[in-house]
Amino acid sequence: MLFRPSIVLCWLISFWMFLGTANAVDNVGILGTEPKWEVLENYQRTIAHDEFARLINDVYCTHGVPDELIKIDNDAAQIVTTREPQKIFTLQFAPDNNSKARIPRLWRPAKSLPQTSADKPLAGLRIALDPGHLGGRWAKMEERWFQLGDTKPVTEGDLTLRVSRVLATRLRKLGATVLFVRNSTQPTTPKRPVDFKKLARNILINNGVPRPRDEVLNPKDPEKEGTIRWQSEMLFYRYSEIRRRAVLVNTKLHPDLVVCLHFNAEGWGDPASPTLIDDNHLHLLVNGSYLQDELTLDDERFEMIRRLLSRAYDEELAIADAVANSMAKATGLPAYQYPTTLTTTKVGSSGYVYARNLLATRLYRCPVVYCEPYVMNSKDGFARIEAGDYDGTKEINGVERKSIFREYADSVAEGLAEYYRNARGL
Ligand SMILES: [Zn+2]
Repeated sequence: MLFRPSIVLCWLISFWMFLGTANAVDNVGILGTEPKWEVLENYQRTIAHDEFARLINDVYCTHGVPDELIKIDNDAAQIVTTREPQKIFTLQFAPDNNSKARIPRLWRPAKSLPQTSADKPLAGLRIALDPGHLGGRWAKMEERWFQLGDTKPVTEGDLTLRVSRVLATRLRKLGATVLFVRNSTQPTTPKRPVDFKKLARNILINNGVPRPRDEVLNPKDPEKEGTIRWQSEMLFYRYSEIRRRAVLVNTKLHPDLVVCLHFNAEGWGDPASPTLIDDNHLHLLVNGSYLQDELTLDDERFEMIRRLLSRAYDEELAIADAVANSMAKATGLPAYQYPTTLTTTKVGSSGYVYARNLLATRLYRCPVVYCEPYVMNSKDGFARIEAGDYDGTKEINGVERKSIFREYADSVAEGLAEYYRNARGL
């Protein structure tokens, strides 16, 4: 399940303004760090003009290229590194596709993996599984919790963890080395909400709440987002947690691929009396579709360019399409259609994959496929979650179905096997 974009964006922009007044040098996103632009020197002459322009126009800046920040000339791109005082990084293009320098990256595309046999299509591959959210005692705080009457509460972070464990077994059987970004309901970050109280207060003051309240008086209070408690909790479970997971992925796990596992949901209203709906759907996300406002932040602009240059996109898009086709076949779910195109761009050939700039898909420095199957508060999704895990099939709402956890894990594993079999010529 994704975070509500309007709120994220609103806070992101205003937070940047806050930092702008506090320290002119640190024009970075929430809990971001100043980018090391010199790293991009390693990517000089690794990409030709046309490929760079294609990735900028069709994948990363589909909502417009901010001309004052990124300028594409015939033989180089000029990228603004800091706006005040203005500094520029110049990326020299390779003269053509045949004369490109080697791309520096730690992950390996399918084509460069060692030979294997058809029954072990994932041999030699390092896959990190990232079960979304935390679950357990944090599920209510994360607002990833609802309960219908006396039934077992639905907590996304526990469901994704369960899927990841089933999936790990499947992937190992196919030859992969499986790593867990999270394998418990314990946060990866050592920080807790209390560590962010001061920052939360400053963000709120800067957002026109001169004397922010400490507490949420009532969970249904529409003003709760203006409290220090709500803001500091969000800084903990969203920004700090995901940034910490990125450090783990990038400096310890070094995977060739990260699979982010989520369940989707539609607005359920009161979590203690949730609304169940008929709609159930599937989509997958890869990184891209940056907003012009996001690109005004120095770290996001840097991370986008680094990601583009690593060429994660072509690999992750092909993987996402293969996994989407496999999941669509197994689940029978229709493709989710975003109500607006303000934050996403449909990409690939399956009809199920969108580009979107999420923290995880941006920060993990390798191909990332982000799965969003099943609406947890759909009548079908809810019934299947409540049925739990089981062998074989069971009749649910009149249809014989595998357990939702096994259907999810099996179809992701089959999609990955299919992609790597084709790409490795097995
Ligand atoms: Zn989620």
